[in-house]
Amino acid sequence: MKKYVVIVAAGSGTRMGKDIPKQFLTLGARPILHYTLDAFYGAYPDINVILVISPKYMKWGEDIAKAYPDYSIKLVEGGKTRFQSVKNGLAQIKEHSVIFVHDGVRCLVTGQLIHRCYEQAMMKGSAIPTVAVTETVRLLEGDSHRMLDRNMVRMVQTPQTFLSPLLLHAFAQQEEEGFTDEASVVEHSGEKVHLIEGEYTNVKITRPQDMAIAEEILRLRGVGV
Ligand code: C5P
Repeated sequence: MKKYVVIVAAGSGTRMGKDIPKQFLTLGARPILHYTLDAFYGAYPDINVILVISPKYMKWGEDIAKAYPDYSIKLVEGGKTRFQSVKNGLAQIKEHSVIFVHDGVRCLVTGQLIHRCYEQAMMKGSAIPTVAVTETVRLLEGDSHRMLDRNMVRMVQTPQTFLSPLLLHAFAQQEEEGFTDEASVVEHSGEKVHLIEGEYTNVKITRPQDMAIAEEILRLRGVGV
């Protein structure tokens, strides 16, 4: 089956407190996005990559693509929201395929998780990686709050993976405010989504300390940073 990955990297990354968005920061000597691309090309060398970049940073995106001369990376302009960025990426896909949608800043995703997502999407139509919550969690309700049963809660990761008809149909909907990931968009279109076990090391680099965690994980894996 043909494979596409839409890597969304058009966010502003303000929580990192740096002048440039986090996806362009370097881990060791290389931009975060290189590690993300390495993971997908390592898993499936024939995968088609659609890299969604904000118009302001398109030059940076071109530099990333130039670092992979043996592959053709399609650069696409992002939108104001994640939904719009993903939609712009999906507009490039015209053939029946398995589509991964992945946060550019989740650069520690492994080939094993990518393979498992693909296999489940082929069988069930979708694969949404999640991990159990290790902290105790509370739900805020107005001025009050209450403890939730943490066994009933999961943290959702990417790559969120789908057979193309399911995902392309869902993204034909109008955008709603609660769409923070692809699973929510597909569910809103009336389809069920299927979870799969994610990875605790599949960190979404968001805050400065996440960079240190990522460097350590790469070091433990023997990847030079
Ligand atoms: O904002 P958040 O951290 O949830 O963003 C998740 C991913 O979506 C990031 O990789 C970010 O670059 C991307 N994004 C995007 N376009 C936007 C907003 C976020 O590509 N307008």
